[in-house]
Amino acid sequence: MDTSVHANFHALGLSEALLQDLTDAKFASPTPIQAQAIPPALAGRDVIGCAQTGTGKTAAFVIPIVERLAGLPKSQPQALILAPTRELALQISTTIEKLGRRRRISATVIVGGADMQAQVRGLRQRPDILVATPGRLLDHMWNGTISLSAIKVLVLDEADRMLDMGFAPQINQILDALPQERQTLLFSATLPTDLARLIHANVSNPVRVMITPSATTADGVTQAIHHTSHDAKGDLLLSLLGSDKDTALVFTRTKHRADRLGRMLNGAGHRVAVLHGDRSLSQRRAALEGFRRGSFRVLVATDIAARGIDVANIGHVINFDLPNCPEDYVHRIGRTARMKTTGRATSFVTGEDRHQLRDIERLLGYAVPLASGSAAPSSAIPSEGRQARRNDRPSQSQWKRSRHHGHSNSGRPRVESSSHTVPTSIRA
Ligand code: ADP
Ligand code: MG
Repeated sequence: MDTSVHANFHALGLSEALLQDLTDAKFASPTPIQAQAIPPALAGRDVIGCAQTGTGKTAAFVIPIVERLAGLPKSQPQALILAPTRELALQISTTIEKLGRRRRISATVIVGGADMQAQVRGLRQRPDILVATPGRLLDHMWNGTISLSAIKVLVLDEADRMLDMGFAPQINQILDALPQERQTLLFSATLPTDLARLIHANVSNPVRVMITPSATTADGVTQAIHHTSHDAKGDLLLSLLGSDKDTALVFTRTKHRADRLGRMLNGAGHRVAVLHGDRSLSQRRAALEGFRRGSFRVLVATDIAARGIDVANIGHVINFDLPNCPEDYVHRIGRTARMKTTGRATSFVTGEDRHQLRDIERLLGYAVPLASGSAAPSSAIPSEGRQARRNDRPSQSQWKRSRHHGHSNSGRPRVESSSHTVPTSIRA
């Protein structure tokens, strides 16, 4: 047996049964967010946890929940985990299956697009944990098929996404139905400062675990931007995909554009799947599972795939369109370079995108290097637009020309300087 697991996770005060499940999951030692968030969460404290994408935030909340609930008599569901997408909810429940096995802690997934009656039958199995997306959870609450009166632990995974304006009305209705006396755990790689008020209202005396400042990108990701035009994006994508065999996750701004791009890539002979919110749950599952298994080399998706999705070995994230929300840039490119691996993120930027790029670079605190072979910007970006707000970490390693066949040799990767200011952190 691997005793190192025991040595490391044991120091966190976990049960022998859970340590065995961690061994089976091949979790050799806790990641920083796990080492620092698990002890206060086990002690029942509220926790706000911020750490880069792909650094094990899921287990940082699943482990303490499993231990805490295992010590309680079985009743109604006693923990509620809210996630912004169906895919993420399903993924979290898989982690619970793995880490709750010997402690006999089970979860039911409550997401839209699936049969309500099947979910009701799942609820009759007396799950300890509900993993839910807000809309479907509210449907069950209105139907009287779910009661939240016994919930002792609430998790908001991707907390900023859960609490942003889009989800806020639904989240507030759910929060109102929860017992006042409860533990609340919030996790994300981005905690924008405007969340402070909402956090203040929903958590009490939290322990803040800031492993890295909000919006720190994954260590192993090499970023680059390509200045291009709308009309040239398709050819540029084909050229990038043609230059290597990496699996690629391609983000578009709209569902319609995802469909169109999927058809174009399919026509060009690529094994491609499309994931967006207008597709059925089974189509969405088939797309993501096929991509996970390697049946598809390319997944074209909207921001539905930006948050939380953990697929091993995505080599290249391509922002065919830039995201509207700068935080989503950090999450999108965080689908690669997970758990100490490396990967690339390339963003296409047109003349109309310069404000979006400026906002992204402000959030990052540095300018993203130009891809080797990229044309110059189509129109000059105002100098303050390329000024960085902070630089709490060195610039990403530079774009490697060797990965880009078929592009001109001119133009070395360019990294523009950035200023030094204090990293931002949430102060509620
Ligand atoms: P995050 O939520 O921070 O983006 P995840 O929780 O999705 O990250 O974890 C990323 C990957 O790392 C998952 O595949 C998970 O199984 C794996 N992982 C998590 N904790 C450990 C650990 N302690 N040791 C090894 N792998 C881990
Ligand atoms: Mg996560």
